[in-house]
Amino acid sequence: MLVVHKYGGTSVGDLERIENVTNRIIKVKEDGNDIVVVVSAMSGETNKLVGYAKHFTSEPAKKEMDMLLSSGERVTASLLSIALQAKGFDAVAMTGRGAGIITDDTHTYARIESIDPTAMQNAIEQGKIVVVAGFQGTNKEGSITTLGRGGSDLSAVALAGALNADRCEIYSDVDGIYTTDPRIEPNAKKLDTISYDEMLELSSLGAKVLQSRSVELAKKLNVKLYAKSSFSDNKGTLITKESNSMEEVLVSGIVLDKNQARVTLRGVSDRPGIAAEIFTMLAEANINVDMIIQNMGTDGSTNLGFTVPQSEHENAKKLMESFNHDMQGMDFDEHVCKVSVVGVGMKSHSGVAAAAFTVLAQNNINIQMISTSEIKISMIIDENYGELAIRTLHEAYGLDR
Ligand code: ASP
Ligand code: MG
Repeated sequence: MLVVHKYGGTSVGDLERIENVTNRIIKVKEDGNDIVVVVSAMSGETNKLVGYAKHFTSEPAKKEMDMLLSSGERVTASLLSIALQAKGFDAVAMTGRGAGIITDDTHTYARIESIDPTAMQNAIEQGKIVVVAGFQGTNKEGSITTLGRGGSDLSAVALAGALNADRCEIYSDVDGIYTTDPRIEPNAKKLDTISYDEMLELSSLGAKVLQSRSVELAKKLNVKLYAKSSFSDNKGTLITKESNSMEEVLVSGIVLDKNQARVTLRGVSDRPGIAAEIFTMLAEANINVDMIIQNMGTDGSTNLGFTVPQSEHENAKKLMESFNHDMQGMDFDEHVCKVSVVGVGMKSHSGVAAAAFTVLAQNNINIQMISTSEIKISMIIDENYGELAIRTLHEAYGLDR
């Protein structure tokens, strides 16, 4: 078997932990497998480097940021390789470029364009353990690029795809994907398997275990992905293609996203082009709009509501106040949160949404906005009730059993 392991910042957070990681790698190797290891920077390192740059200017050049930030992963990759060598194993450390990763020119948020796995394959053939610095590649001109924060997950999945690996295991300090955040609901259960699409909803909804770009790529390349802990021997959660048995489960997980603010525009003139104008303006200000709700216009006007990340709330507010025409009024609320119920079983079962609304009603929780997709129901509610909503929904769908 050829396996790819990826170790996140906390898993390689100090020298002792790096040592602990070598034992895991050696075990895989001694079982007769080939292994490629992708590493993150030691925990806190990337933020520390960002802080260094910000000492000089609030807007450091992106090209230099890439050169700076990519160094964190190189430190870990070289140390891990040295540690493996010290134990008598043949290991080789590679940068993103060394591993053949070519990206576009978007510094600090580059896309992988191609991977030439020859160098890795040659090393594997010579019996070597390959250790790759995650989160980076180079553009065609040879400048270092990085793949966006959390990008080592993406490196691991992309390399697993390019090498046609049998599995890709992502190690962190959590031992898998849970039905909800165990800090909110102690009865949360670890899932054995989950589909790519469910995982995408969970990761973009704020379950921080896997970077969402990496899950998208795993789906596209059909990489068998495992989320595991480097601090336990638990078998983790397998993220894979949807199967019929998955549909038997109505709901797989409940997520709370506290980073939400709501904007409501009242009595917006009901004419073609108004939504385009408003959302173009927000897009041009780089404000990410999440949920959008508009009702049917009556008497020539309509209500339009949407949510933005809490950090963008002030900007969105200023922008809307400067626009302030073609509408009767507006209100803003940053004390809201989004509760989402996710499950592929919703495709083939009815009543899942009704059950959610009923449970919230029984707890006197008012729903301000609702949006749904094939496998998700999201509700905006008062942030004071977010955790209560999570716990009661978790119980209502029997996820604690
Ligand atoms: N070190 C980078 C970050 O903190 C990449 C990663 O850890 O995946 O974002
Ligand atoms: Mg990470």
